[in-house]
Amino acid sequence: MRAVITGGAGFLGSHLCDYLIESGWDVLSIDNLVTGSEGNAAHLIKHPHFRMIRHDVSQYIDVPGPIDYVLHFASPASPVDYLKLPIQTLKVGALGTHNSLGLALAKSARYLLASTSECYGDPQISPQPETYWGHVNPIGPRGVYDEAKRFAEAMVMAYHRFHGVDTRIVRIFNTYGPRMRLNDGRALPNFIYQAIRGEPITVYGDGHQTRSFCYVSDLIEGIYGLMNSDEHEPVNIGNPQEITILEFAERVRTLVGSDVPIVFKPLPQDDPRQRCPDISKAKRLLGWQPKVNLDEGLQLTLKFFRQRIAAE
Ligand code: UDP
Repeated sequence: MRAVITGGAGFLGSHLCDYLIESGWDVLSIDNLVTGSEGNAAHLIKHPHFRMIRHDVSQYIDVPGPIDYVLHFASPASPVDYLKLPIQTLKVGALGTHNSLGLALAKSARYLLASTSECYGDPQISPQPETYWGHVNPIGPRGVYDEAKRFAEAMVMAYHRFHGVDTRIVRIFNTYGPRMRLNDGRALPNFIYQAIRGEPITVYGDGHQTRSFCYVSDLIEGIYGLMNSDEHEPVNIGNPQEITILEFAERVRTLVGSDVPIVFKPLPQDDPRQRCPDISKAKRLLGWQPKVNLDEGLQLTLKFFRQRIAAE
């Protein structure tokens, strides 16, 4: 089996490369390295079944030879990144999805889109089931990501219905683990970095907004289950253990063993008040549910960040 993974040098893409290589697949990673890094796949570079090319998938994608699966993971994914790269984010979600679907169609390959809980925007119901259509501000600063992914889902369903491409859509909720970028601006890297460096932890707003954090190995197992299922409509993959951002900051601070203060900063525009996946569909269809609890996952991630910071 041969897979093409766009965004294979990113946080999730590189873990997916690892998982497929370990499962005996041949993997071609395509990444323009705008937010990804070659270092994420450096350990695979000499592997006989792995290859990495640098290319922007918003441009035509040319891959010689047969392909069994196209997995579209390329996109800036942290709010700070997509605010800095709004046009690239829109392009990779729209044109990159179109090009990668075109590749799947040409090769008669199966296809999986990495979509997002951001499709639900600032949700008015919680937890969010896949049947919820969302509450998104199309013209706000997060709209570049949210709408690109919503367009991407529409495009995937059109390729499925019109061209008969065998497609899957995973809606990924907040995920964390080794290989997150220290400076990607998300809550976890920020909190760990600040606590380790003895700087105040920055909580945005009053910290009562919630998120639900999934450890990366659980996410990848859920995605692999979906790849092998027959479901064409979106499936949520995430950890339903919901926590406020203030509690999360306190957990991280305790774990690091630090006593830095928590300071409150303005809440970014359209920051979702709550986010929690309803994973009953994934449980029912894939027999999947997360296994790693927050404390275990945070320990593993903290170890990675300590090594990174020591190497700086
Ligand atoms: N956040 C925070 N302090 C930070 C970074 C983020 O309080 O230094 C908040 C952010 O406003 C949001 C939550 O943490 O409410 C999660 O933010 P993140 O950027 O990790 O991802 P999001 O879930 O918003 O995509």
